[in-house]
Amino acid sequence: MHFDTIAAISTPMGEGAISIVRLSGDEAVQIADKIFHKPAGKKLIDEPSHTIHYGHLIDPTSGETVEEVMVSLMKAPKTFTREDVVEVNCHGGIVAVNRVLQLILKEGARLAEPGEFTKRAFLNGRIDLSQSEAVMDLIRAKTDRAMNVALTQMDGKLSRLIGGLRQALLETLAQVEVNIDYPEYDDVEEMTIPLMIQKCTWVKEEIDKLLRTSSQGKILREGLSTVIIGRPNVGKSSLLNSLIQENKAIVTNIAGTTRDIIEEYVNVRGVPLRLVDTAGIRETEDIVERIGVEKSRKVLKEADLILLVLDSAEELTIEDERLFEAVSGMDTIIVINKTDLPRKIDLVRVKQLTSNVKIVTTSLLKDEGVDELEEAIAGLFFEGNLEAGDLTYVSNARHIALLHNARTTIEDALGAADEGVPVDIIQIDVTRTWEILGEIIGDTVQDSLINQLFSQFCLGK
Ligand code: GDP
Ligand code: ZN
Repeated sequence: MHFDTIAAISTPMGEGAISIVRLSGDEAVQIADKIFHKPAGKKLIDEPSHTIHYGHLIDPTSGETVEEVMVSLMKAPKTFTREDVVEVNCHGGIVAVNRVLQLILKEGARLAEPGEFTKRAFLNGRIDLSQSEAVMDLIRAKTDRAMNVALTQMDGKLSRLIGGLRQALLETLAQVEVNIDYPEYDDVEEMTIPLMIQKCTWVKEEIDKLLRTSSQGKILREGLSTVIIGRPNVGKSSLLNSLIQENKAIVTNIAGTTRDIIEEYVNVRGVPLRLVDTAGIRETEDIVERIGVEKSRKVLKEADLILLVLDSAEELTIEDERLFEAVSGMDTIIVINKTDLPRKIDLVRVKQLTSNVKIVTTSLLKDEGVDELEEAIAGLFFEGNLEAGDLTYVSNARHIALLHNARTTIEDALGAADEGVPVDIIQIDVTRTWEILGEIIGDTVQDSLINQLFSQFCLGK
């Protein structure tokens, strides 16, 4: 395959004093040589691969020295894109980096599209689709745990697992082919069906295992949208502030994408909480009052977690009871606040109003009970099993949807086998399952999907 040479600012993870402009493609080294000058005068093209060089960038038109830089030279194929890659490390802010990029573009590189480096790695066979998607997740990861999920996926763990399932299916398909080619043995069908049932059952169980991790994986990836509700003055703002203070708030600005949003997250024991409508809570204290019961019910329904705050020093009111109603059936934690004051609330009644809902008591004034609350939040969604590092999480909505489809087709195959349907008919469902699983790793996907997926990436990756 031939690709032109692309370039982009590739700001490394975390803030650093160094910015990197990355070049990839057949002409990467030649373009760099036009502007990069080492003190000793040697050209990059004559240097060995995977080496770092000090020198200056000089604008060939004006002869002006633009920047003092370090240049990393990585020749194909042992690079991220499997093409020649040159990385220009320059210090200084955005102005300096932009000047370097402009110079490189002027000398013949093309500005990379979002995700184009990763796309090339994919197209050149360096990584598969699920790994490419993991690169994007990594960029957006909000907590260490979310990052670990992305890292194991990028490492190819999900791909290997899917590969194993497809291999098992392929083996049964091969068996069927053999049988069709040698029909003179009439007991072959009896041999093939049990094998097929065995393999398909195994594949189905593995898919189920993966799907069981999906809700947690999704939470890690996208955050747990959390709404704090309660009557005026019960301590909602205090709760919000204490969550934000104890857990460094993460403000993510997803740059370079069409969805340039700024959202506020807090990291609670590795679980990113997306505080929904926090501004609203701050301003008017009460979303029910502000947007009305019906609309707030809708906001509540979209939330993954409700923190319903009650005042321990007051009796339950009609308003409180209405809130209980509004959140029934949802993942809710009851926070009974102000335990430092004499208790007036009827705890028996609170328990009656909730079934199976975790109740935590706090005194936000005295900074008590917040640990228990955090534990309750983490426990509600992860029950401690997040520590089991050997689990492979599926977090990506596209993967989850495909796994559900694969589960349906494999079930069809198993159902047909049970009913004594001929093996070459069952084979159709097995083949379909194999194809669907292939879409996860990009084996059987269309170009349009590939383009769409990669266009969601950040520039420079
Ligand atoms: P909101 O209206 O629900 O947002 O409640 P706020 O967080 O603004 O708190 C209302 C009042 O209750 C403030 O004066 C807080 O200082 C006070 N408050 C909050 N938590 C506690 C607590 O645990 N104990 C006591 N005694 N007062 C609290
Ligand atoms: Zn308040």
